Amino acid sequence: MGDYIVKNCTLLNNDNVDIEIRDGHIDSLVRAGDGDWESYGENRRFDAAGRLVSPPLTEPHTHIFNALSEGRPNKNQEGTLEQAWRTGALNRQGKTKEAVKTRARRVISWFATYGVTRVRTHLSISETEANLYTSAEAMLEIREEFDGLVELQLVGLPAKGFARDDELYDQLETMIEMGIDVVGGWPHREDTREKGVDHVYAGLELAERYGLPVDFHIDETDDPNSRYTEVLASKSKELGIGDRVTASHTTAMHSYPNAYADKLIRLLAESGISVVTNPLSNCVLQGRYDDYPRRRGHTRIDELEAAGVTVAVGQDDISDSANPYGDGDPLKMLFHFAHFAHKNRLDDAKDLWRMLTYSNAEVYGLDPNEYGLSEGNEGSLVVYDAETPFDAIRTIAPRTLVLSYGEPLAKTDRTSTVFYNEDDSVDFSREI
Ligand SMILES: [Zn+2]
Repeated sequence: MGDYIVKNCTLLNNDNVDIEIRDGHIDSLVRAGDGDWESYGENRRFDAAGRLVSPPLTEPHTHIFNALSEGRPNKNQEGTLEQAWRTGALNRQGKTKEAVKTRARRVISWFATYGVTRVRTHLSISETEANLYTSAEAMLEIREEFDGLVELQLVGLPAKGFARDDELYDQLETMIEMGIDVVGGWPHREDTREKGVDHVYAGLELAERYGLPVDFHIDETDDPNSRYTEVLASKSKELGIGDRVTASHTTAMHSYPNAYADKLIRLLAESGISVVTNPLSNCVLQGRYDDYPRRRGHTRIDELEAAGVTVAVGQDDISDSANPYGDGDPLKMLFHFAHFAHKNRLDDAKDLWRMLTYSNAEVYGLDPNEYGLSEGNEGSLVVYDAETPFDAIRTIAPRTLVLSYGEPLAKTDRTSTVFYNEDDSVDFSREI
């Protein structure tokens, strides 16, 4: 935690301010130029020159334990999710804790570079690794190692069939007792509807017992008969815990008849549970059984938001068997999402920005009063090489400065040169 000043940065409401940070927290926001620049040491101050600033970013859904695994040694030859599960399990065979940690460190350095200081990351029990809990042990140690820099929230995914098998059930409970933060699940992978419903109930029961949040992979399929989100929402509503429950993916909603989707969306709003959409992975994994026309398999963002459901946007896979692309940059993901979700009006950028910042932070469980660039809040922020959210998304702007509690976490400069101008620098803004 330290002291730092960022001069002349542009807030979302277009105000130009100096942000003064003392002892890791925002001490004051004053009109640009009015900050006490001279009282900060030379390496504790930064002139943003009118660039956009935001609170630190949150990644609400990824799988760090599995990152960078595609092609090591096996490749997903079909590109489907089903093949990804098989290939991913093969690639984890014999993997050591140190191997998981080495890859995690690389990926976390990418997140830091891109302004992400909090990450919710899912991990599973794996009978093919050195022991059942290799990934959990590795990620718990990594969480400790990055404490104070990039915060990790670990979601434990149970083995298929755990609801009716004491041994498998105990495995998830062991992960919780080891220190996992969130109860995960994937009921649509179960063999039958009934087993999937039990899967939901068993996960919620554990979460209730340990007082933990819940985040399920759920209805991540094109099958319109995959309907576990309704079970999750209904039971969460009954238990009154909707505000700490998340439904990730829900891609089957794309294929539901409108009448059923309407009922489900109303239920989701009543239950208070949130949804995470993962546009990069789901646009390559869905629609794989279609001829033409090919469905895109995207959940119903506009309708969910209109009903008052919080929708966050996640990265999901980072170069694993489900998607070999990805480097953890939320702006690359948001750029893609803008196209995929038909959010191509100039004015949509503000909605996209709200989802990226406030919705993602809400799903992570941050108090909305404590998240944001206000006096008293954490002195963490991101300065973009752009002046508006629209331009930040349009150009996938480098994160010029990332601060965490008043300490510099990362800096990136964009350097481009053309050789046919007298002034050889390139201006990426739209201002003419
Ligand atoms: Zn996922």
